[in-house]
Amino acid sequence: MEKHRTIIFSDFDGTFTKKDIGYRLFRHFSQGRNIPLVEQWKKGLISSRDCLLEEAAMISATLEEIHLFLETFNLSPGAADFYKTIKRHNIPFYIVSDGLDIYLEHVLRKHGLDEIEFFCNRGTVKDRQLKLNFPYDNDGCMRCGCCKGARINDFVKSDRSAWEVIFIGDGLSDICAVPHADILFARGDFLDYCRAKNVMAIEYENFFDIFRYLEGSGHISG
Ligand SMILES: [Mg+2]
Repeated sequence: MEKHRTIIFSDFDGTFTKKDIGYRLFRHFSQGRNIPLVEQWKKGLISSRDCLLEEAAMISATLEEIHLFLETFNLSPGAADFYKTIKRHNIPFYIVSDGLDIYLEHVLRKHGLDEIEFFCNRGTVKDRQLKLNFPYDNDGCMRCGCCKGARINDFVKSDRSAWEVIFIGDGLSDICAVPHADILFARGDFLDYCRAKNVMAIEYENFFDIFRYLEGSGHISG
């Protein structure tokens, strides 16, 4: 049998980070006015792109205020060491997010991990207004701003059978990754979704669990 090359894609908010930073950022700067919108998004009534656009219109903040707010957030337990270990094993690792670069990039940099490549939506702040930009083509997906399924597909489609795709997620923005992954790690709403749809997923709590799985399955050693 041909040997597959393993590639890992991870969600950011609530997966690589302990908490959902995007949700909390909009909740904080909109004084909670975004909550009904997020509920609509969770029910599938609006796309994440429309949700983000409306949330962005609700907030007024400078980039400095946003960065100050980000100070309290941490990565998930084991996330930084996990990345460093799989890098040593030459396993490619990418963050795929339906959130925004304005916080994602800042948080990675704060933890000395700005070398990690990521795919997400873009935000720029000018005159206390947050303007959004959606740079990716989503292969027809109407649900997402930056579709994780489309991002994974972009990577592997030229030779799908050459890759073993591992995806790690925690929320409803992760469901488009399901048909594109060989191994799913899930928690939170994403785990509930997988269970409801009879999708095989490995439950995890933090990146130590994922590390243990990869070690036990022979993906990494020593
Ligand atoms: Mg998430």
